[in-house]
Amino acid sequence: LYFGGLMCTHLAAFRTAANIRKRGVAHVMDAPLGYFDANASGLIRGRLDAAAADTETLLAHNLADIVGTITLFFAMLVLMFVFDWRMGCACLLAAVISILTMFAMMGGKNARIMAEYQAAQDRMTKAGTEYVRGIPVVKIFQQTVYSFKAFQQAIEEYSTKAEHYQADVCRVPQSINLTVTEGAFVFLVPAAIFLAPGALADGSFAGFVTDFAFYAVFSAIISTALARIMFASSGIMLAGTALGRIRMVVEAPALKVPEHPKAPQGSQVEFRDVSFTYDGAETPALSHVSFTVEPGQTVAMVGPSGGGKTTAASLIPRFWDVSSGAVLVGGVDVRDMDPHVLMDQIAFVFQNSRLFKASILENVRAAKPEATREQVLAALMAAQCGDILEKLPKGMDTVIGAEGTYLSGGEQQRVSLARAILKDAPIVVLDEATAFADPENEALIQKAFARLTKGRTVIMIAHRLSTVTGADKILVLDQGRVVEQGAHDDLVAAGGLYARMWADYNQAIRWKITSEQ
Ligand code: ADP
Repeated sequence: LYFGGLMCTHLAAFRTAANIRKRGVAHVMDAPLGYFDANASGLIRGRLDAAAADTETLLAHNLADIVGTITLFFAMLVLMFVFDWRMGCACLLAAVISILTMFAMMGGKNARIMAEYQAAQDRMTKAGTEYVRGIPVVKIFQQTVYSFKAFQQAIEEYSTKAEHYQADVCRVPQSINLTVTEGAFVFLVPAAIFLAPGALADGSFAGFVTDFAFYAVFSAIISTALARIMFASSGIMLAGTALGRIRMVVEAPALKVPEHPKAPQGSQVEFRDVSFTYDGAETPALSHVSFTVEPGQTVAMVGPSGGGKTTAASLIPRFWDVSSGAVLVGGVDVRDMDPHVLMDQIAFVFQNSRLFKASILENVRAAKPEATREQVLAALMAAQCGDILEKLPKGMDTVIGAEGTYLSGGEQQRVSLARAILKDAPIVVLDEATAFADPENEALIQKAFARLTKGRTVIMIAHRLSTVTGADKILVLDQGRVVEQGAHDDLVAAGGLYARMWADYNQAIRWKITSEQ
């Protein structure tokens, strides 16, 4: 029966874990993109995948044990008294004492001590992770583990708490517990000695001996049963915390999908009095931002770091939803659109463009799965990736990240530009971060940008002013507000923040030229 039971519980456990993963992943797919910014992918995977596995012990193993233990407990109670209730009581006494000692260890003020002990363990684990993350810094600055005060303190605190918990809380009850469970004879033998003369006298000694043998074997089962209860409770605890982690994923806010989605008309992008505050932030990242980008226009966002450029760009594909106002694409509020239709309208190239550990072909084709090899190649050539393909052993079938094939930051960016070109969306949102590219790469990236943006509506986050002079409109964002907007020449003539930035920029170029002479 136990074997059959385990078969069933294992099947159920694996199915449950698989369903948790499926539901979690399905839910995560509906979360707004900003959710992945705030929750590292490793964290989500850990919460979902590892937590699903943590439910397995309880369902596959402990469940059968719990049923077995409950059955055993009632069977024990009956059997105790069937043959000889006096010897049964002696055995039961051991079980009662054992249960009392367990309560003594876990109940009352000891529960608080145990909670403190576990909290100290958590703190130590966290400080340990911090320490491992900081090892490069420790090595560079020739520090030792002792310089990580927080880690050292956490270890010492844990050690004090652990000693206190074990010496003052557990030592006596656990010793008694082990003695009575492992040596249930403690009570059985004296009881037998006490009862033996009576049995001899009334001639039932043979029966008495077999009864004694039964209880001697039986008493050993008590400790097994009690140990199983302990393991089962740890399994329940483990599964409980696992469920908590899973809940954090499946209860993440999902992107609100409209019941009657509207279709966008054209590729105009409009910000209508948009304000946005990040969760938990006190000041808004954007306040009352309004502007329009007509189809085919290029609009560049410039301004000091932290001005709100990235935030504004992220609101278009609904990384987050606006706090007030509206973002319109093709005349329709992005919240009234089917998210898939919205995504079809927009191609993004952001700073940390991610490439999968797959061939270049597959990486680019991710933007348009039905694209042919020729179309992918054309996109790669348009994104100036010819030199990359030439130097790779298997051309565009080379797997990135495998067999020592790595691409530089600038090269990765060109491949992700090819992806955006292949997508062929009418609106392009791009972060022109070429900061890490070498001059040669930069020239190629600029060419690829030109190909990507030709004839499309473009919203560009610009970091250097040289690339924005040709834009149809420049938005100057400072502290979440559009402080100026217009064409380059008009803004320079206006003598505001942009004119100052332009003057600084020109000075920087002059400074570079003279220093190189
Ligand atoms: P920029 O791209 O112009 O440098 P950002 O849009 O990145 O500016 O930032 C605008 C403001 O929003 C800044 O004050 C920044 O600290 C804040 N901010 C940016 N990202 C987040 C985030 N994920 N959570 C909270 N605040 C953020």
